[in-house]
Amino acid sequence: MYDMQNKVAIVTGGSLGIGQATALAFAREGAAVVVADVDQENGQNTVEQITGDGGQAHFVRVDVSKADQVQQMVRETVDVFGRLDYACNNAGIGGKTAPIGEYPEEDWQRVININLTGVWLGTKYEIQQMLHNGGGAIVNMASILGEVGIANSSAYVAAKHGVIGLTRAAALEYSDQGIRINAVCPAFIITPMLEAAGILNNPDLRTEITNRHPIGRLGQPDEVAETVLWLCSDAASFVTGHAMLVDGAYTVQ
Ligand code: NAD
Repeated sequence: MYDMQNKVAIVTGGSLGIGQATALAFAREGAAVVVADVDQENGQNTVEQITGDGGQAHFVRVDVSKADQVQQMVRETVDVFGRLDYACNNAGIGGKTAPIGEYPEEDWQRVININLTGVWLGTKYEIQQMLHNGGGAIVNMASILGEVGIANSSAYVAAKHGVIGLTRAAALEYSDQGIRINAVCPAFIITPMLEAAGILNNPDLRTEITNRHPIGRLGQPDEVAETVLWLCSDAASFVTGHAMLVDGAYTVQ
């Protein structure tokens, strides 16, 4: 579909869920993929799926909220594969659910550190490398909750709104230097994150949440991964600073 031979991609949070689907999709198009995650076991599993199919992949252990580790992730990518063309800053956590008045500050900080600062750090160090090798494309994983609110997840909602904001600012700064920067905003996608939140195995809650999607179902990780791939590909060569909804019409009601 896209020619990504001789290209190199980083996917943070590539061990599971949307990130894993995105790593596999980059590999399918011929890119060498760095799977970057705190979860080594599932990350190695993603790498083995790619190499087992004849692709190139490498695992880097990174906590995206730590600047030195993010910098090292980019360095190791260049050491192993020689360059960096695409990055999907996808790693994130759901965080605690509680109204703001009862939301512990350490939980707020943790969500902001991983979901917002982590994306900012990734974007910063990936841009520095892309400027060295003549450009690239970055896709930051936001959410419908970067465009609309939801009760009891103030940190997550604030972080995702922030991801869209930093994506727009970065696009303005680097579009004329060959780097396109976009965001993707999925609605509820069937991943380990939703399982951990207790949504998938609670039939009443699952039905209630499914019914918020006019399309009549939850999304699949592949449906988000395909959007990331398109945004990175030359097919999207005039698209930058955009926050693309992948939401089954959730937000247009
Ligand atoms: P997931 O929990 O299934 O996978 C997240 C991955 O990120 C895991 O492999 C985890 O180990 C990794 N990770 C977590 N903290 C990390 C850190 N500090 N450093 C490095 N890696 C870390 O989640 P998912 O549902 O695939 O979500 C991926 C992204 O998509 C997140 O940013 C999430 O907010 C966003 N998103 C998810 C949904 C959904 O419904 N699943 C909807 C909208 C947006």
